[in-house]
Amino acid sequence: MLEKTKSKHLIDSGLVKLSKMSSGQPEIFISVQGEGVFAGTPCIFIRLALCNLSCSWCDTKYTWDWKNYQYANHVTALHGDDIYSIVKKYNHKHVVITGGEPLLQQHALQPLITSLSQNDYTVEIETNGTIAPITPIFKLVNQWNISPKLKNAGNSQNKQTALEILATYKSHPNAYLKFVIVEQDDISEAIRLANSLSFPTDRLIFMPEGASGPKLINKSEWLRDYCIKSGLRYSSRLHVLLWQGVRGK
Ligand code: SF4
Repeated sequence: MLEKTKSKHLIDSGLVKLSKMSSGQPEIFISVQGEGVFAGTPCIFIRLALCNLSCSWCDTKYTWDWKNYQYANHVTALHGDDIYSIVKKYNHKHVVITGGEPLLQQHALQPLITSLSQNDYTVEIETNGTIAPITPIFKLVNQWNISPKLKNAGNSQNKQTALEILATYKSHPNAYLKFVIVEQDDISEAIRLANSLSFPTDRLIFMPEGASGPKLINKSEWLRDYCIKSGLRYSSRLHVLLWQGVRGK
């Protein structure tokens, strides 16, 4: 069923395009999950290049903004086997595939995700929810962190959300919608969107926007209070508080 809604954005290639560090190495690193239900868990992050959106507050513009970043300096490409060999060197069994927008490359990712799954890794994918996952990936991934973009992200409205794709995630028990909140008005927009999908309330997450500690803390207080009062799940951004958003941490 999901294949019927396959996006034209999919890029079919055996190579996975990854974000490249200034050292020339792919952006594969160990850290703690900073957001969502696994916050605080030590994880291996695989940061992919390319995105189909252009959020104004994006803190990984080097993965897609080719007006301001040079593609050749920020993108490298590896086969899934090579990525798996790098991941295996870490003594952890929890992987987060992030971006950019990972589902742009889901066909190229499928062998990697299959290997991880067959070797007992827990796999999370972070997606903006605009590209339908193919069935094998939908099932193999243990945790879906879907971040539908609100008006605050500044994308054109026709690109912003895809309701029918978001609705498919209701059938996955570990799929959460995570909303980035910039201003208090964003909360009602997020709730309207979740209600229109009848998405389970206990799988909604509200997270303040902020790429620096002070900015994040400033927005945390009213959002924290709102979530407590309303019985909604709040998420911080631990990597911002712990490392001030330094790349590769
Ligand atoms: S969807 Fe994510 S990676 Fe893409 S522009 Fe928005 S915040 Fe950045």
